[in-house]
Amino acid sequence: MQPLHVYTVVPKLPEKLLPLKTLASNLYFSWQHEIEEFFAQIDRELWEKSEHNPVWFLNHLPQSTLEELGEDEFFLDRLSTIAAGFEKYLSKRSPMTGLDALESGPVVAYFSAEYGIAQCLPVYSGGLGVLAGDHLKSASDLNIPLVGIGLCYQRGFFRQYLTHDGWQQERYQANDFEQMPLSAVLDEDGLPLKVRFQMQGSPLYFRVWRADVGRVPLFLMDTNISENTPERRELTSQLYGGDLEMRLMQEYLLGIGGIKALEAMGLSPRVIHMNEGHSAFAGLERIRVLMEDRHLSFEAALELVAQSSVFTTHTPVPAGNDRFSPELMAKYFQEYSADLGLSWKVFLALGRENTRDDAEHFCMTILALRLSRFNNGVSRLHGKVSRKMWANVWPQYPEEDVPITWVTNGIHFPTWVAPEMSVLYDRFLGQSWREDPDCERVGEKFGSIPDIELWRAHERLRERLVDFVRRRLQQQIISRGGRSWELEAADNVLNPEALTIGFARRFASYKRAYLLLKDDDRLKRLVTDPARPVQFIFAGKAHPRDNEGKKIIQELISLCQSPESRASMVFLEDYDMQVARYLVQGCDIWLNNPRRPLEACGTSGMKAMANGVLNLSTLDGWWDEAWSPDNSVGWAIGNAEEYDDVEYQDFVESQTLYNILEKDVIPLFYDRVQGSFPRRWVQKMKQALKTLGPVFNGHRMVEEYSKRAYLPANISYGKLSAGGYRPVMDLADWRMNLLTHWGGLDIRNVQCVTAHEMFVGENLEVSAEVKVEGLGIQDIRVEIYTGPLDHTGKFANRSTFAMSPDERTADGWYIYRGKAMPMATGKFGFTVRILPHHPLLRDAHSLGLIFWADNPGPKLQG
Ligand SMILES: *Cc1c(COP(=O)(O)O)cnc(C)c1O
Repeated sequence: MQPLHVYTVVPKLPEKLLPLKTLASNLYFSWQHEIEEFFAQIDRELWEKSEHNPVWFLNHLPQSTLEELGEDEFFLDRLSTIAAGFEKYLSKRSPMTGLDALESGPVVAYFSAEYGIAQCLPVYSGGLGVLAGDHLKSASDLNIPLVGIGLCYQRGFFRQYLTHDGWQQERYQANDFEQMPLSAVLDEDGLPLKVRFQMQGSPLYFRVWRADVGRVPLFLMDTNISENTPERRELTSQLYGGDLEMRLMQEYLLGIGGIKALEAMGLSPRVIHMNEGHSAFAGLERIRVLMEDRHLSFEAALELVAQSSVFTTHTPVPAGNDRFSPELMAKYFQEYSADLGLSWKVFLALGRENTRDDAEHFCMTILALRLSRFNNGVSRLHGKVSRKMWANVWPQYPEEDVPITWVTNGIHFPTWVAPEMSVLYDRFLGQSWREDPDCERVGEKFGSIPDIELWRAHERLRERLVDFVRRRLQQQIISRGGRSWELEAADNVLNPEALTIGFARRFASYKRAYLLLKDDDRLKRLVTDPARPVQFIFAGKAHPRDNEGKKIIQELISLCQSPESRASMVFLEDYDMQVARYLVQGCDIWLNNPRRPLEACGTSGMKAMANGVLNLSTLDGWWDEAWSPDNSVGWAIGNAEEYDDVEYQDFVESQTLYNILEKDVIPLFYDRVQGSFPRRWVQKMKQALKTLGPVFNGHRMVEEYSKRAYLPANISYGKLSAGGYRPVMDLADWRMNLLTHWGGLDIRNVQCVTAHEMFVGENLEVSAEVKVEGLGIQDIRVEIYTGPLDHTGKFANRSTFAMSPDERTADGWYIYRGKAMPMATGKFGFTVRILPHHPLLRDAHSLGLIFWADNPGPKLQG
């Protein structure tokens, strides 16, 4: 029989312990070791069992324990100190924002399909989610008026376990939201808020859970309520589960539902940040609302939305970008496109590279690029890769002008730095490393930590890691019914003093976990050297449908179980934030060898760096901009080559990897000549902290987004919507007019006053005659486009210099003149071009129009 009602019985918290509840209901504890440790000390075993979930933990403490604690003066004293610290954090003014909250609340809504904030809120799968979590935490520290929007997955991402023969199995664990640091968002009557909107012509309902990430609220949508049909209740059941249609429905909910949720909660942030293309439908919904409520045209609404949107792309692998067939799109968006006043073809063109190709699938990344005027990749290299990858969205554009920039990812230091290191940093750097880690002065202070103290702290972390690995291995063995000798052996794996190399990440093929296995014998020689022992710890999940990835895991495990390497190579099951923490804190070397340029950024290496762990990596993602031949912050595998023959590349790079290990890493680690610890190694640790610490952290990242993206977007929104939206309507009209008359432009008689050969530092003087028919000279910007040429005679890169009109010819053409100064020597070229210009246009490239002097190309885009 099914019960009519379900209810939960929880222990009664004595009055004096109420602050415990406050601490438990905010995820602040996930980056305040002190709070986490405070919970753990109450009952360490139960804390572990709770998977570090303070709400579940409090609900499962025996009433008697609570009564005792309520009488324990010492405990109450600490509780009030910790609670006061938390209050202080919440009320603290920020060191810098420049963004002030609106009367109606937050300015920025951050959209992401996943969030990795803490172990106990498993709504993440990997790097993208953890990055989103770190973004919210840094935004909280910096007091940025931002809220997060996401989905509340009933079953989250899968847990990994392995069979006897090393084959990955997946297990899905149901989340009990009532027992998590979440609270239901209520409506005006104090009842759980239920939001209703349309999907496929029928109503879809969801409720909203709120997670507090310090000062930043995160709202998670949940469709598992009785108002929905059984299929629709399943919509938020699984992260990245189900088929393509499920993916589309989830993205519909995330984007369109997300905007609805904000509205239902009375929030109207002006700026939205789409973290990856999953949420790009949010832009469409904002347009639809503006058309309906403010009676804007589609063009005006799009302009306003795009200028106040920020889009971050994360995927340099084409298959990683969501694409939906026109048929599937029609099921969900045919009516919707009519609401936007668009023909079906024009609607689909929003997500197509070639807007005339009726067969092309609808791509979320392209939609996001079109609906945002600040687009970025997540490292310098990835910015470049993205400009190339999406160049077709801006036909006839030189790659370097494709409007996709980069903001390199960063990690939230307080979350990832080990308690032992935090204590050291507190002593030698002061509190500022938590609050202002991107300050250079803080970076310098890493140098003041005494070598021996840094080394001792690091050694303790390695010991803690080894201990953790042994316990985890034993649990693994027990749960798959292993034998007793295996259990005993697990107690002796790894050597707490040996050079420890960590490799943990998704088992996607471009990450090349197999690279290290290319030469079995050479690897075995390394791990069996008694004089200079080396050991490896692996972890990571393969996608449930990725059999190749699973095979690599199996191969790795079979190696880990071979008699020679059993003691020095281990594979840990179920890589998650908890495992990641131990690994990035306790290894000596963090190994990463993706196939360049397929790693967008990578953040686990930054977590390692923050703990003084040295990186050994191919020059891909962030390491391409972090490492340089003379900064001595770690090691690079190869010289940033890209190969056509991947087999050959694997061979070369695996050889390089062994060479670096044998010739550089191992000798340096075991160089104990001048005392009991490796001084030159410690120098390198400090060098990495000093050089990379101030850059590759979340505060720098969020400040960069704030200054370069959020603030300008907010200002644009204000300007364009002022006085009843007149400016954006005018801008849309201007845009239409420009598109109509662009064909009337022409350039002739481009002349260079300067001699054929010139000296560095001399000006190149250029003049050109420009015809501006149907437009005014205020509508355009004429510029010199100049740069060094490569061996094929093409521009290797470029600078632009404005030209201005000073005369007219007898037949009415304007004579423009300008000067350019090449900053280097070599073979240069130049040409002249025209771009649109309007004071309210945030990005001259957003119209997709360029008129070139020598090669005008097609006159209109699309
Ligand atoms: C940091 C982190 C990642 C991302 O690391 P990469 O370097 O991008 O592979 C993935 N999973 C977990 C659990 C993490 O903590």
